[in-house]
Amino acid sequence: MSMDLAKKLYAKMPEVFAKARKKFGRGLTLADKILVSHADNFDAQTWERGKAMLALRPDRVAMQDATAQMAMLQFMQANKQKAAVPSTIHCDHLIRAEMGSAKDLLRAMDENKEVYNFLASAAKKYGIGFWKPGAGIIHQVVLENYAFPGCLIIGTDSHTPNGGGLGGLAIGVGGADAGEVMAGLPWEVLHPKLIGVRLTGKLNGWASPKDVILYLCGLLTVKGGTNKIVEYFGPGAETISATGKGTICNMGAELGATTSVFPFDQKMVAYMNITDRADLANLAQSHKDLLVADSEVYQSPEKYYDQIVEVDLSKLEPHVVGPHTPDLARPVSKLAAEAKEKGYPIELKAALIGSCTNSSYEDISRSAHIARQGLKAGLKAKASFLVSPGSERIYHTMKRDGFLDTFEQLGGTVLSNSCGPCIGQWKRADGVKGKADSIVSSFNRNFPGRNDGISETLSFLASPEVVTAYAITGDLGFDPVNQTLKGADGKEFKFQPPQGEELPAKGFAKGEEGFVAPAENGEGLTVDIPSTSERLQLLQPFPRWDGKDFERLPLLIKTKGKTTTDHISPAGPWLKFRGHLDKISDNMFLGANSAFTSEPGKGTNVLTGESNLTIAQIARDYKAKGIGSVVVGDENYGEGSSREHAAMSPRFLNVRVVITKSFARIHETNLKKQGILALTFADPKDYDKIEQQDRISVTGLNNLVPGKPVQVTIHKADGKALTIQTNHSITEQQIAWFKAGSALNALN
Ligand code: SF4
Repeated sequence: MSMDLAKKLYAKMPEVFAKARKKFGRGLTLADKILVSHADNFDAQTWERGKAMLALRPDRVAMQDATAQMAMLQFMQANKQKAAVPSTIHCDHLIRAEMGSAKDLLRAMDENKEVYNFLASAAKKYGIGFWKPGAGIIHQVVLENYAFPGCLIIGTDSHTPNGGGLGGLAIGVGGADAGEVMAGLPWEVLHPKLIGVRLTGKLNGWASPKDVILYLCGLLTVKGGTNKIVEYFGPGAETISATGKGTICNMGAELGATTSVFPFDQKMVAYMNITDRADLANLAQSHKDLLVADSEVYQSPEKYYDQIVEVDLSKLEPHVVGPHTPDLARPVSKLAAEAKEKGYPIELKAALIGSCTNSSYEDISRSAHIARQGLKAGLKAKASFLVSPGSERIYHTMKRDGFLDTFEQLGGTVLSNSCGPCIGQWKRADGVKGKADSIVSSFNRNFPGRNDGISETLSFLASPEVVTAYAITGDLGFDPVNQTLKGADGKEFKFQPPQGEELPAKGFAKGEEGFVAPAENGEGLTVDIPSTSERLQLLQPFPRWDGKDFERLPLLIKTKGKTTTDHISPAGPWLKFRGHLDKISDNMFLGANSAFTSEPGKGTNVLTGESNLTIAQIARDYKAKGIGSVVVGDENYGEGSSREHAAMSPRFLNVRVVITKSFARIHETNLKKQGILALTFADPKDYDKIEQQDRISVTGLNNLVPGKPVQVTIHKADGKALTIQTNHSITEQQIAWFKAGSALNALN
């Protein structure tokens, strides 16, 4: 399948590159090449980094089981017989880690039966590949099977950029985006700026690919990559394995980057060959000039990238980042002093390796080398030591080559091939709420509560080999690179730098792959959603606009200050309802600060006068009475993630208009996609004029056109009225969405 996609893509690249060079008046970076070759319509498109919205046609969609639920429910609303692009679902996020692989998997099958049955049946019907629970973590499986040089993949998970390790643009999106692309719509994204990272030298000793990105997190910070693509190049890039490149791209998400990418090279060829894709490797090889930037770009990179960073791999030290944020970075050698100064608990309670970020053969073999040195000295892991393999292929190869035995001898527990502790699906036996202690992992995120649900836990991130050394010493104050430790015989010894193989000499072992192909023709098949389900609910299309202006709608909430998508649709315990729009909508605005009440998420029903109600309770009452409502917001309303529930729940509970000082771009588009009118105050001071008892009319909607302001009348409780002007960024296409009731309705 990837072979056909690649053939088609490579065949059209030369022509579109020639047009792009002419239009831009310069050579093309690799990111330019991948973007222009996936343009929905290159000629009609405006190309301006940081400003233009691009409409792109991804080659493939990948979904993980938590986000796939709403993505599939939305896709089903479009009434298509089959997904328009090759797509897969991966069951990796819902498996809780506690008792080890086999038992955890059995329990997950039982606990999540409804969700798995739904996803499997929908995949089968709509031509989507289904990877069963335990088959592997989405990004590892995509790297092993689907990513290819030059591809554009979207995935409903932030760490989708892992696919950049094979030279493609792989980008994390919300479920709505995936649903729409599968329904045949192009995918829209702000034309990203470019950070060029020039790598020289070669990693040596303890330094690993993970340290490249940990170092960059410290340098660029968690905001440094926002709306940017990080493009690596330089002689150092060719020295890093394809899976190492995957690790670096994966954690580019921690820079806030749209995605990260490496140019095509022989490491990618070797990886595609060993993962049974020699045909694809040969094809890419024969088109290699298309899959790297134009040579003039590498000669004068400062002319082509918006920012340049230089990293000399030869000088890179192994790093540790954290606690609580990945941009608090320092070399391992500096951690002990800092831990002492800042009072971090020195005893490490747990050390965790693997995950989608770091479970390559290279990672595992280097970690096993450290583990064997510990065992030789008669030591066992002092910290609880957990291993999360990324896929069945990795698991069986680890087993065949003795690494599993080594980790188990050290006292480690091998978990199922799934996310587990990386996403908080971890029943940590020794964790105590309210008590701070330290853990270290080779994962990618470390915000409070991410791993064990305990916000006091100090979570540090490092390479898997450094984490394995920490597992043995159980001591955050130990410097595995420079310090010695005592073996069981009391003699001092020093870890030798880790050694491992990039790829298994005997090839990858195979287990049960866990892939279920879709039906050839899914027409007669049904999708399995029990009517009594608490976790899943079929979506009903939102009503079409009735052609009338909005007259005297009550104000549902006026939010004050930061209103992120997490304030509008909080996660945590609500996540289990993400496939059930009615149930999850009870969380609407629970985290938002209201301009009129001190308690977040609470307000007054202006029809009944009842106060201290949740915003969802108020909205449900208005909806039951057939009345829509208006939300007013502050600056950058809807910042944060692309969470579609933050737009779907308001729409479901009959919010018709959102007026703000300004919107976060993705959320603004999400509101429009759900058929909500997104307006901004022409004069931001008008925000202050809105009061709790106001009724709001939005008129002239039959004449809604791009660029023309919309008139809003505020009816005051004392009978006075004032008219204000609002602006919008609604396009012709988005007016069609508004009239149809939603973007998906407009497809029917
Ligand atoms: Fe996300 Fe962690 Fe799972 Fe990777 S292992 S997909 S980072 S939850």
